[in-house]
Amino acid sequence: MSQHDPRSKNPIVRDVTRPRSSRRKAGLTGWQLAALYLGLAVLPLGAAWLSGIEPVSLTTELGSGLGLLAGALLLIQMLSSGRFESLSGRIGIDRSKSFHRLAGAVVLLIAAVHPLAYLLSTGLDDPSAVWQRLASFVTGQSTRSGLIAFLALTLLVLLPVVRERLGLSYEVWRATHGLLAIGAAGLVLHHGLTTGSYSGERPVLLAWAVLAALALGALVLMYVARPLRMWREAWRVERVTADGEGSWRLELRGPSATSLRFAPGQFIWMTLSPHWPIFHDHPFSIASAEADLPKLRLIVRKAGNCTNHFGSIEPGTRVAIDGPHGSFVLDETGERVLMVAGGVGIAPLLGMLEHAAKAGDKRRFCLIYAGRNPAAFAAIDRIEALSQIIDLEVHLVADQRSGIAGFSPGPLDAPRVAEAIGDPSRTVAYVCGPPGMMAMATDALISGGMSPERVHYERFDDMARGGRLDRRRLRQSIGVLALALAAVAAFTLR
Ligand SMILES: Cc1cc2nc3c(=O)[nH]c(=O)nc-3n(C[C@H](O)[C@H](O)[C@H](O)COP(=O)(O)OP(=O)(O)OC[C@H]3O[C@@H](n4cnc5c(N)ncnc54)[C@H](O)[C@@H]3O)c2cc1C
Repeated sequence: MSQHDPRSKNPIVRDVTRPRSSRRKAGLTGWQLAALYLGLAVLPLGAAWLSGIEPVSLTTELGSGLGLLAGALLLIQMLSSGRFESLSGRIGIDRSKSFHRLAGAVVLLIAAVHPLAYLLSTGLDDPSAVWQRLASFVTGQSTRSGLIAFLALTLLVLLPVVRERLGLSYEVWRATHGLLAIGAAGLVLHHGLTTGSYSGERPVLLAWAVLAALALGALVLMYVARPLRMWREAWRVERVTADGEGSWRLELRGPSATSLRFAPGQFIWMTLSPHWPIFHDHPFSIASAEADLPKLRLIVRKAGNCTNHFGSIEPGTRVAIDGPHGSFVLDETGERVLMVAGGVGIAPLLGMLEHAAKAGDKRRFCLIYAGRNPAAFAAIDRIEALSQIIDLEVHLVADQRSGIAGFSPGPLDAPRVAEAIGDPSRTVAYVCGPPGMMAMATDALISGGMSPERVHYERFDDMARGGRLDRRRLRQSIGVLALALAAVAAFTLR
């Protein structure tokens, strides 16, 4: 524990040497993003409305409206991948990726219902003609691009779900995902420009041109500009050491005039030479402070193909890095900072503590750090050193009972997290760890009286969900997509 006075009125020392952690986060707020998303999503619909074509029937207009929306949503998927910090930097990669996945499934659903609405229209006029119309959808030349786009879209949505069962590596999946997305977007554009009563209308053509330009711009940035930018600075691996059972400590060094600046808790995308970034970059949280630049520390768990072999990286190996990214950032709110880490989830929290020590942050910090067994804990030396500098209370919780002093028996549970909250209106919490532990901890914090705005968390495994905060985010995402569908209803009923 440090000797700083935790009751100080202004817990942060405002000092010119303090790293710029309070730097304004890049990106739009959730509301701004939702407005931008909806604006782009309804662009073709609005343009079709403006074209002045008289509606035919409810079912036909519903079919057209759904088709126009599905096409637009598919093209915007290129922008919502979470890779563009200037768009999603504030909401973070976790939320962007979840939204991206949900929107993908909704596009697939809308794309499936869109031809059914036309079939319903035919069926209402002449039930015997339904099969003939269905056959024309499947075999007709005018609908071919739409049909192939639908098949590509189905693969895009299903592959991430079955990837591990099929034994596809993350890199192969990423490559397939990119190629399928580009193919589907091209085919959807072709379908939108050549099929349907609104396809030849000037405003509609203009709307597709705007969306196509944005999608193309996103692709060029993602697959050409970004990989080139990542190699611009000469970053190298300086040292790799084992840090706890099952993880590595990687020390990187950049040029002394590096342009990298980051806030505590952010992450970088990293690719090791001789690989090429597009498909081989991995996200890792920065476990050191900005003030340590041009040195950067990462704590990496052995998780598979890439990270298992970090022990054999030769010192001096070039690395390409892209960053900083992420909204899981230590800010200046709260008089007391509660951190809950599980396993390698310690990495971003360690970065925050390192920053707090460098910045002379006088707040009270409490770290609950859970792991499988005492040997599995990484960065214990750093945590010990930091507790001599800042007001840091540390609780180490090991699942396997060992009798080793300093470790309390696990697994970490909700009462222990709730107990550490203190005054919920003065505490701010940061949680990072395995999915089950995160759901338990964030739920315990909310049940313990903390407002969701004061509970920050970062997920390393983007397929896992479960806590109340996740469900809240899911409801918000569903709300945005429901508004887009409401626009189709308005278009149909006009
Ligand atoms: C924001 C963020 C920060 C992270 N910070 C850290 C950290 O500080 N330390 C740490 O050990 N791990 C961190 N991770 C997780 C780390 O990126 C993966 O464990 C690593 O990429 C696994 O790669 P692999 O090839 O060794 O394993 P694989 O066997 O290929 O993959 C294991 C799992 O890791 C995930 N994964 C693999 N490659 C990627 C990728 N390129 N992008 C995203 N996910 C991937 C997939 O879900 C995959 O199923 C972080 C993840 C995210 C999203």
